[in-house]
Amino acid sequence: MKIIALNWKLNPETEKEALSLLGFSDRKGVLVFPPSIFLAEIARKAKRAEVGAQNIFWEEGGAFTGEISPSMVKDAGVQWVLIGHSERRRYFDETDEMINKKILAALHADLRVILCVGEPLEVRKKGVSSAKKFVAYQLENDLRGIKNFKLKIKNLVVAYEPIWAIGTGKADKPAESAEMAKFIKETLSSKPYPPNPKVLYGGSVNAKNIAAFLRPGEIDGVLIGGASLKREELKRIFGILKI
Ligand code: PEP
Repeated sequence: MKIIALNWKLNPETEKEALSLLGFSDRKGVLVFPPSIFLAEIARKAKRAEVGAQNIFWEEGGAFTGEISPSMVKDAGVQWVLIGHSERRRYFDETDEMINKKILAALHADLRVILCVGEPLEVRKKGVSSAKKFVAYQLENDLRGIKNFKLKIKNLVVAYEPIWAIGTGKADKPAESAEMAKFIKETLSSKPYPPNPKVLYGGSVNAKNIAAFLRPGEIDGVLIGGASLKREELKRIFGILKI
């Protein structure tokens, strides 16, 4: 079954609206990623959808004002966590080293991880092979030390999100992101990574283009930002997916 991950980012404003959005998206195969303040309530109310955090810290406790630990998230009934989203890399200066620590901490707490990778426009302009090199570098550094997590490594999913496609309305060409998904799988299969990791595509997915990304092939699902807050768009998306 394809994975449909919905990243609400810093939305909506109230818990009431968040619950209403959940009511609409609470379907099998859907993962919802609400802001952290709504996580516990959303996890309590979700019946079919699975719930994920948009971020965690790598320490389990201590003097880290404002942070949330993997175990706290797990205790709130959450199964998933998004790590390495380009908005966190860009606005919160998250480095590959920090992302790596977060991934290891999340796997240690038995959370399932969606690691986001993807190249900026200036790299993609140089061609798909430059983009592949960029993504390979991110994978190598973000997943350093992963071989110590033999049992939980199946909990790792990768989302290919070219930065220039996020929130811009300019989605990647489905054939090119499928080629990147294949490349990610090949890269991970040659190292101590999970066999057949799932790879999602994210970046301006909507009701018009989702079917092309989800054709049988290398892409195992989508990560949807903007459209996950628009009921009409979601209704059409769920209609297309028959969920
Ligand atoms: C995202 O938030 O990961 C994303 C892909 O956003 P959008 O669908 O708005 O491009």
